[in-house]
Amino acid sequence: MQVKRHALLSPSIGTRRELLSFHYGKPGSGQKIYLQASLHADELPGMLVLHHLKQKLAALEASGDLLGEVVVVPVANPIGLDQTLMHGHLGRFEFASGENFNRQYPDFVALLGDKIESQLSGDAELNKQVIRAAMGAALQEIKPASELASLRHTLVSLAYDADVVLDLHCDFEAVMHVYTEEPYLAQAEPLNRFLGAQAVLLARGSGGASFDEALSGLWWQLAERYEGRFPVPLACLSATVELRGETEVYHPLAEQDAANLIAFLQHRGVVAGPVPALPAALCEPTPLAGSETLTAPHAGVLVFLRQPGDYINAGDVVAEVIDPLSDTVSAVRATVSGVLYARGIIRYAAAGTDLCKVAGKVAFRSGYLLGA
Ligand SMILES: [Zn+2]
Repeated sequence: MQVKRHALLSPSIGTRRELLSFHYGKPGSGQKIYLQASLHADELPGMLVLHHLKQKLAALEASGDLLGEVVVVPVANPIGLDQTLMHGHLGRFEFASGENFNRQYPDFVALLGDKIESQLSGDAELNKQVIRAAMGAALQEIKPASELASLRHTLVSLAYDADVVLDLHCDFEAVMHVYTEEPYLAQAEPLNRFLGAQAVLLARGSGGASFDEALSGLWWQLAERYEGRFPVPLACLSATVELRGETEVYHPLAEQDAANLIAFLQHRGVVAGPVPALPAALCEPTPLAGSETLTAPHAGVLVFLRQPGDYINAGDVVAEVIDPLSDTVSAVRATVSGVLYARGIIRYAAAGTDLCKVAGKVAFRSGYLLGA
């Protein structure tokens, strides 16, 4: 195992942060797998999962059972990790800019433009190498001008040539769920099943230039662009794994999640040994555009009547919003049927507040599909 330290651009005189990456196995000896946790720095279950995963990877490396390279970044956001305000940890948006740490990653399709076309051929494997080389060159051209930009640039530079990228997040209160891009569904299915995902949300570019889609999106977009001319493989399965709710930071869960990730790596052929049987799928994937976010009709105390993981039928009352001055009790109903996969953690709702999400089967939204 090799530890690499990456200095971030210093935002201020007399202080400098760094990002640490842990590299297991041999580069170029097989697939490259990249995992990071807590890009939203107050989402901590992934940090504990990667703590457990690191021990397992070290043992596999020592026994010679690691057949590829695994890069682990357990603390993907040292900027946000240090952001507290009046005893509250606020790790989703950078204080300095207000920007979401998981937005505004490079648009590789735009960066590559027409530069690669003359180098493409009928060989998909060679095309993959050409595209990765061009991605690397494009990243070297970028000169980050802020600490946040240097964080994004460092993370993408570590991950852009990986075959699998897993970005570990969590929601407020939630069941295990996974976001990935629809063209990668076949590659993602073993991951979803080993993790026990209770919702799988699929998109083809959800509009936010998130970390995962910056890395996976290029490949299917180029495959479509050059269809019938040059074969382009889906060379980077990238997924945002939502490790349940933000307080579900427990050794038994994290240990099991790490073991499940190792099972997935065995299935991918990155870890030697007998491939574990694939567990049954716990859900059918659904379109992200079919996910309904229920909102508060007015301000009040929020009372959930249904739990994360419950199957909701269209018309079911999921929550009530109660104004104790007028004694108005408003039922909040789902208009789609599906799993209630995530809900908020604060029990006072301002008018219009997002309350919870239901994974409907039929796409009804379009355009920008992510939250703030
Ligand atoms: Zn997150």
